[in-house]
Amino acid sequence: MQSSRPEAIILKPKREKSLLNRHPWVFSGAIARVDGDPRPGDTVDVLTGDGRWLARGAYSPRSQIRVRIWSFDPAEEIDTRFFETRLQQALDLRRQILASSATNAYRLVCAESDGLPGLIVDRYDRWAVCQFLSAGSEYWKAAIVRCLTDLMPDLSGIYERSDVDVRNKEGLAMVAGSLSGKEPPDHVDISENGCRYRVDLKGGHKTGFYLDQRENRACVAAYARGADMLNCFAYTGGFAVAALKAGAAHVVNIDSSAAALELARINMELNELDGTRVDHVAGDVFSLLRRYRTDGRTFDGIVLDPPKFVSSKGDLMRASRGYKDISRLAFELLRPGGTLFTFSCSGLMGRDLFQKIVADAALDAGRRGVILQWLSQSPDHPTALNFPEGSYLKGLVCRVV
Ligand code: SAH
Repeated sequence: MQSSRPEAIILKPKREKSLLNRHPWVFSGAIARVDGDPRPGDTVDVLTGDGRWLARGAYSPRSQIRVRIWSFDPAEEIDTRFFETRLQQALDLRRQILASSATNAYRLVCAESDGLPGLIVDRYDRWAVCQFLSAGSEYWKAAIVRCLTDLMPDLSGIYERSDVDVRNKEGLAMVAGSLSGKEPPDHVDISENGCRYRVDLKGGHKTGFYLDQRENRACVAAYARGADMLNCFAYTGGFAVAALKAGAAHVVNIDSSAAALELARINMELNELDGTRVDHVAGDVFSLLRRYRTDGRTFDGIVLDPPKFVSSKGDLMRASRGYKDISRLAFELLRPGGTLFTFSCSGLMGRDLFQKIVADAALDAGRRGVILQWLSQSPDHPTALNFPEGSYLKGLVCRVV
């Protein structure tokens, strides 16, 4: 089918396979020609060299990902109705999967996996926090904000946290601020599975909280009763609160950020947890784990949830050494029968490689371990089957035997 749109992207021969598989990205190297004069975010049709229509997406001239696909249906126009439909579908999915989950904070839109490339929307109680990470989502920002207000009349306000450096790759400046309704307060309290958390929407990591770890907080809690635990890369103490609420005896939270640990301390109070059951240590995990080893300190449970160590394929070797280093130290600090919860949020770190790193770490530590569970991101962070890149968080629960 020939497009009627003057703006079109014509692919090089034999470069249509990924689009036929409904992968939503067109890389610059696959493009033979650009017809018309599309500006950043404009809707373009993508065609094969012999004029066959493949998909419709947003043009991003500055990015290596030159087009992000909105639709594979030639009859679907990209207009306000399109966003209404996709956002409604995303909301319906969350209502269904979170129906039995006691939380008022969740990811409402998970970008490519919800058919809305470059758009993140997180809901924290009565506030929505958005990230517009692509030229296309930026272009439709006003329409998206209008749709969100219509879909969720109970929202007090929508706030933007597009202050992330991936925007640079799209030729977009970093921005943050109120988009609609009231400006959120500096801190918003959310509840999740009987725990309360204070979230810094305007200054915290990502949109404020690691919503993707919800199920994994519950998993750690399930092993926590009576345990003496170490929570590395604690941020605001999400795992610690869940563990202590579930009956952990004591948790040490380590983070390099004093501000994050201050919120972790407040989260103890919010949950009416006795402050003597937690220590907050501001410092570097790599050196503190070594100090604990020297001091002969041991634990029943250790959580390792480091920041993303891999941002490009070239980082993988160095990152692997980092994961192995902390995993080996953690194995050395675990008491017999102790449990390691170790995570990687780097999409480029595959599950097989991650498991091998953890296995090598146990070997080097001279410990015998078994995998009890594989963990991943919460279901409100789905992965579209045709977009495996959407699956980034992985975790292993290992028991030292
Ligand atoms: N586990 C947290 C999220 C961790 S995010 C949660 O569930 O909410 C990663 C954290 O690691 C950040 O808070 C960052 O401040 C901290 N961090 C990064 N490098 C560190 C290091 N070398 N030592 C200690 N903390 C570090």
